[in-house]
Amino acid sequence: MISIAIDGPAGAGKSTIAKAVAKQLEYIYVDTGALYRSIALNAINSGTNTDNEAEINELLNNTKVEIKFINGEQRVFLNSQDVSDKIRTTEVSMMASKVSAIATVRDFLLELQRGLARENNVIMDGRDIGTVVLPQAQVKIFLTASAQCRAKRRYKDYLAAGNTQESYEQILADIQQRDYNDSHRAVAPLKPAEDSVVVDTSDDTLEQSVEKIIAVVNSKIK
Ligand code: C5P
Repeated sequence: MISIAIDGPAGAGKSTIAKAVAKQLEYIYVDTGALYRSIALNAINSGTNTDNEAEINELLNNTKVEIKFINGEQRVFLNSQDVSDKIRTTEVSMMASKVSAIATVRDFLLELQRGLARENNVIMDGRDIGTVVLPQAQVKIFLTASAQCRAKRRYKDYLAAGNTQESYEQILADIQQRDYNDSHRAVAPLKPAEDSVVVDTSDDTLEQSVEKIIAVVNSKIK
């Protein structure tokens, strides 16, 4: 099986680009952020104090996360309920960034991610795919862009979806906070794998970024 790991900060375009590449290559696209988001949603719903180890253990004992592919699209199920849409809020993003720093939470999700890569050709996006989850991945890409660029794209996406609640400044502040959390945590911090190719998408259109990634994949796999 072939694995392509795409890591990078929030809003670099990982999911959009990975989906397009997966379609071209006929691989399965796995969005691992959705797994952390599902646990975050469960933590919010259950009022878990995430600073308390016993409460985190209890939360995980009461959490079943599954991934299913419906019409080729990943859907994530929390305790048998499809939460794929509910996990896309700012509140869940911030909580995901918090719970993902906890080692037991990361361990809890490790086997699920590795299992998917054992059974399928995957393009998997996250923060630690090339460094921790799939260190043997044939292709590793670290996708990045300036925080301002990433915030601008998010802001545009929100407006297009009719969400006018969030200001550009707020989105930028959230992105910077998540970057900080994700790259400064002790376990599996966000950083490029030594053997990754760093691709900066700041000045690219989506099509240009997809082309760049396909070129990297072709050079590594052939
Ligand atoms: O990619 P997405 O923004 O959906 O991820 C939500 C949060 O989950 C990230 O900010 C990060 O803290 C965490 N995450 C992680 N490791 C991954 C994927 C996501 O720590 N492989």
